Amino acid sequence: MSQENNTIQNNPLLETFNTPHETAPFGKIKDEHFLPAFQSSIKKGEAEIKAIFETEELPSFENTVAALDSAGRLLSRTAGVFFNLLNAETSDELQKIAEEVSPLLTKFQNDITLNPELFERIKSVYEQKENLNLTVEEETLLENTYQNFVRSGANLSEEQKEKFRKISTELSVLSLKFHQNVLKETNKYELHITDDTKLTGLPESALEAAAEKAKEKEKEGWIFDITAPSYLPFMKYADNRGLRKEMFLAYMSKSFKGDELDNQENVKKMVHLRLEMAQLLGYKNYADYVLERRMATNAEGVYKLLEDLYTASFKVAKNEKQEVEEYARVIGFEEEIMPWDWTYYSEKLKVKKFDLDDEKLKPYFELNRVIDGVFGLATELYGITFKPNNEIPVYHDEVIPYEVYDANGEFLSVLYADFHPRKGKQGGAWMNDFKGQWKEGEQDSRPHIVIVMNFTRPTETKPALLTFREVETFLHEFGHALHGILTKCTYSGLSGTNVFRDFVELPSQIMENWAVEKDFLDRFAVHYKTGDKIPEKLVEKIKASQNFLAGYLSVRQLSFGYLDMAWHTQVEPFDGNVKDFEEEAWKKTQIFPSIEGTCMSTQFGHLFAGGYAAGYYGYKWAEVLDADAFSVFKENGLFNKEVAASFRKNILEKGGTEHPMTLYKKFRGKEPTVNALLERSGMK
Ligand SMILES: [Zn+2]
Repeated sequence: MSQENNTIQNNPLLETFNTPHETAPFGKIKDEHFLPAFQSSIKKGEAEIKAIFETEELPSFENTVAALDSAGRLLSRTAGVFFNLLNAETSDELQKIAEEVSPLLTKFQNDITLNPELFERIKSVYEQKENLNLTVEEETLLENTYQNFVRSGANLSEEQKEKFRKISTELSVLSLKFHQNVLKETNKYELHITDDTKLTGLPESALEAAAEKAKEKEKEGWIFDITAPSYLPFMKYADNRGLRKEMFLAYMSKSFKGDELDNQENVKKMVHLRLEMAQLLGYKNYADYVLERRMATNAEGVYKLLEDLYTASFKVAKNEKQEVEEYARVIGFEEEIMPWDWTYYSEKLKVKKFDLDDEKLKPYFELNRVIDGVFGLATELYGITFKPNNEIPVYHDEVIPYEVYDANGEFLSVLYADFHPRKGKQGGAWMNDFKGQWKEGEQDSRPHIVIVMNFTRPTETKPALLTFREVETFLHEFGHALHGILTKCTYSGLSGTNVFRDFVELPSQIMENWAVEKDFLDRFAVHYKTGDKIPEKLVEKIKASQNFLAGYLSVRQLSFGYLDMAWHTQVEPFDGNVKDFEEEAWKKTQIFPSIEGTCMSTQFGHLFAGGYAAGYYGYKWAEVLDADAFSVFKENGLFNKEVAASFRKNILEKGGTEHPMTLYKKFRGKEPTVNALLERSGMK
């Protein structure tokens, strides 16, 4: 028997998990199990797919569409364990495996969507959909499955398919090129300072980091650059206006210098190729292609949102600019406020107005109390409870495994909570699942959810005290977790957070609204030493400071939204000047004069090296939704059980089984408007 066979036969990833709720047996899984497990579960998945298109039976919803949804379960389980570890408990070894595995997974996916026999069967079911007597969920699954194939080119002629593949390949090459150019530009620039009189205003932490950077490069003094952790504090605190201007110009001129790292041609090419691709598939423009699979539905939906918010926020932004300018005068600045002055003077005004820093709030947010508060909110709203169960294996000692139960005692989900930073854990915070939810006949197979954070650790003298932002982050990820925990669907492809992208942040962002409600905070936000409740005055300050520059920040996001939509609603190949196009597109949102030599489009990774093309509006869309939805709680009571039950039944349980606007209207009684957001941010 060969070594490889031996590994496969004793591979815990390929066996039934003999653990509570069949959770992953982390103690038994070793790095060397992953590759053979992937290979073997891909093979199994392929066989399951083959059985679908090779059967002699006539295509039906069950033997084709439903069967496709449940194909590849072993692969999903393997991938669930692997990719969660890759993010939360990584190692060089896992990174290496990821590189080996990722082309295998891409191939597996492509072999499905590019399989003509499989598509023929799906199409045949799709064409008889009127006569199949399908439930709403089945209809959605059929529609999604069919569209997924069609949008990847399955319905094209051989010649068109060839063209489609060529465009896709070119687009991914250009996107990578775009990204690399911006990255190289970012890494190329440094501001080297040896004269410490130029450093006034900068806080100790920024100076230390800059000195460290200089040391690494074996230079004297301090080095600042245009990566976010170095750039942002510099623009906020450095008194030296000339240097702020230099940094600003370096930042905003990335890939716009007419040299080999310039992205203007790449932008034009990508916009053109996206248009070609959309038209090949039968859409008017690229935005229509993208938005078909979004809650916003089409470009009109997006523009309506942008316009409604623009009308309300532009005036506010102008007033805010004036306020900052006036304050700058008071403290002795006499020239016109330029973009490189904005962050600097607005920070000074913010400090004067609010005088709020993390250290004042942290004593009220001791982690264990915050956990009680956040979990307790779900108990109050939905009647669900969280029971730690140490029998459930974990991937690190610090991870806390819970069982989540419904009010009637029914088991809902496993929830792993992983709070603190460690080596091997990525930065930021996220929710994910190890296992999704689906039904097999009458059997409801419940999910395994994880929330991962990077919260301040306890020290020898202090427990873990969270910043206010960390409390919000906890609520946010916990909201995603509830979407996963409470889901009640039949098909895994539609359950939990498998929803349109501009809908997925509703369950998470709505939770953040409770963070500034005194009635909620009083339940857990007590000083860890004195036991005093958080003072009303502090809560009011948090609220007011959250709305500081709300108009400006809104207009800034809108300007990016307009720019994005302008590029992606083109219906003819664009061959003009990139900078001119940009200025025209966002003209009405600008509160500063245009600065020569700067360009956003050539460095806008969201649009040209990420997944946000025709999707940037999504940030504002999500805010509109969460504010509008939360206003129902505001009106009827923060802990109102009927409102909560409706939110659970119509949103949290439903995943993507119906169009999000339909689900939303069932909860809200009408479509969302911008009013609640304007009110919350003090713009109304
Ligand atoms: Zn989120």
